[in-house]
Amino acid sequence: MRKFKTESQKLLDLMINSIYTNREIFLRELVSNASDAVDKLYFRSLTDGSIELGKDELEIRVAFDKNARTITVSDTGIGMTADEMEKNLGTIAHSGSQEFKADNDFSDTDAADIIGQFGVGFYSSFMVAKNVKVVSRSYGSDEANVWESDGVAGYTISAGEKEGHGTDVILSLKDDTDDEEFSEFLSEWKLRSLIKQYSNYVRYPIHMLVTKSRELPKPEDAGDDYVPQYEDYLEDEVINSMTPIWKRRKSDVSDEEYAEFYKSDFHDFVDPQSTISVHAEGALSYDALLFIPGRAPFDLYSRDYEKGLALYSAGVLIMDKCADLLPDYFNFVRGVVDSSDLTLNISRETLQRNSQLRAIAQKVEKKIKGELEKMRDNDRDGYEAFFDNFGRSIKFGIYASYGSKAEELAPLLLYFSAKEQKYVTLAEYIEAMGEDQKDIYYAAGESVDRLGKLPIVKTILGKGYDVLLCTEDVDEFALQAMRTWQEKELKNVSTNDIDLASDDEKKVAEETTEANKDLFEAMQEILGASVSKVEVSPTGMEAPARLTAVGQMSMEMERILAQGPGDSMARAEKVLQLNAQHHAFEVLKEAHEAKDQAKLRLYTDLLYNQAMLVEGLPIDDPLTFAEEICKLM
Ligand code: ADP
Ligand code: MG
Repeated sequence: MRKFKTESQKLLDLMINSIYTNREIFLRELVSNASDAVDKLYFRSLTDGSIELGKDELEIRVAFDKNARTITVSDTGIGMTADEMEKNLGTIAHSGSQEFKADNDFSDTDAADIIGQFGVGFYSSFMVAKNVKVVSRSYGSDEANVWESDGVAGYTISAGEKEGHGTDVILSLKDDTDDEEFSEFLSEWKLRSLIKQYSNYVRYPIHMLVTKSRELPKPEDAGDDYVPQYEDYLEDEVINSMTPIWKRRKSDVSDEEYAEFYKSDFHDFVDPQSTISVHAEGALSYDALLFIPGRAPFDLYSRDYEKGLALYSAGVLIMDKCADLLPDYFNFVRGVVDSSDLTLNISRETLQRNSQLRAIAQKVEKKIKGELEKMRDNDRDGYEAFFDNFGRSIKFGIYASYGSKAEELAPLLLYFSAKEQKYVTLAEYIEAMGEDQKDIYYAAGESVDRLGKLPIVKTILGKGYDVLLCTEDVDEFALQAMRTWQEKELKNVSTNDIDLASDDEKKVAEETTEANKDLFEAMQEILGASVSKVEVSPTGMEAPARLTAVGQMSMEMERILAQGPGDSMARAEKVLQLNAQHHAFEVLKEAHEAKDQAKLRLYTDLLYNQAMLVEGLPIDDPLTFAEEICKLM
């Protein structure tokens, strides 16, 4: 009996005692080893003229025996000598597990999780097997050897017998317990679905004997009441599909095939809106197949949504959702990346540090952006549909990066134009700007309809300028994070730093404000902390009054934050601006001059509250407001 190396023993202990649901990855690991072994023989045959391989000689086979409780994974690969068995199966030889050596406290659940996700090769067999037997014959040798272990005591290597080169790995499954069932793997259906799930794109055929049913020939003397008889029989079938769709050129694959693959692999019932296929060769070789879904999954903006692309290493699935391959703002993209430059046993930590992976992620991001720009320029309807589904992620990207991603992402934005009554890009907005317009104007609120009716929006449109109407809660935050676009300031029309008035208009407004100082102070007193100032509006408008906000916090932001969790005390600092041309202003002045406190209070309240309502903000006391209106009737 030979002992395992210390590190290997630690890993084995963990495998034997692990209780994950993910233990099914053992099959993926064994198939991948089989595929590696076949690869090695194949590559050797390319350079060694003496090796003649028959056309169908390279294969993998999975079999099970219900009574003996065994699962066997066989290959016709290069095989191992006794020395190689000692070296390869007695120690953790491979790179992925090297990482595990550094991280040697296996008791901690995080480490256990990582095994579940990435596997650690051959030893993962011990998650399901109480005994593992490896019968192998190295190519070119006439003797076979048997490596056998229960994982605990150590292993033995002895002479054995095997026809032909290659390896059989025979697992004797653990006994079922109350908590754990291992017999589930002793089923054709289960093994087949595991092969499909994890090893569908392995380059060599994975054979399995499958049970089929056929009708027995009708006996000659069968009467009229003959009922057809059936029998079960076994047939050899190749389970995996071998050539991954992402390895095929886009010109060779139909849209329907892509759509079918997308729908079945990503569990969607709607065709993808766009399909991006990438084939890179050279310093970094990989294939990628990316999809922009045709609709947003219901949980896209919930905490449970997991972004990521499936990551394959030479056809073997490493990870279902590799988050590092996608930036958050493209979290809606689904797809696959396959690179032979990556090792199979890559752990979550090494993944982040993996420079190849980072380089692929950058390329993937560029491709997605390029595709979106193409769609924006060539298929505007399609792009608008895309943007309705996923524009929010892009806006979040700008906001979350404090604007540092704006350069890249802002060209992808669409906003509803109050003037054009359709979506426009920021570039189109600027293009349409007249010479006298300095800034980009936007209004944020609940609906396009409502925003279009804001007094200030009407005023701006009246000047011939356009206003972008923003109805998503992230809009204002993203635009504020950007601050400017192509040297034009992005200005919220509901804040009072927008500069629409001429110098003359401003001067007149200031003078009128000064002349009515008394009145405004009285009104300010009535309104208390609700407004920080009452003044005459320098910009002409139809409405008698409007509210504007001072500083960073707008009224729409106040509204959004109030809807959020907890009790947001964040308030916009508001200024009540009066229209000095409006009849209401005269009435206020008269009430003040007549020292009619009750009337001044009534009109001030009414003007303030109706301005609040117009801005889409809740008023403090709707009942009193309603009563006040009745008083006027
Ligand atoms: P990895 O595949 O990452 O190298 P494993 O733990 O899966 O690590 O396998 C350890 C080693 O055992 C392999 O590198 C290989 O040399 C050897 N091995 C495992 N399975 C086979 C097989 N079916 N045929 C030949 N060699 C094998
Ligand atoms: Mg392996």
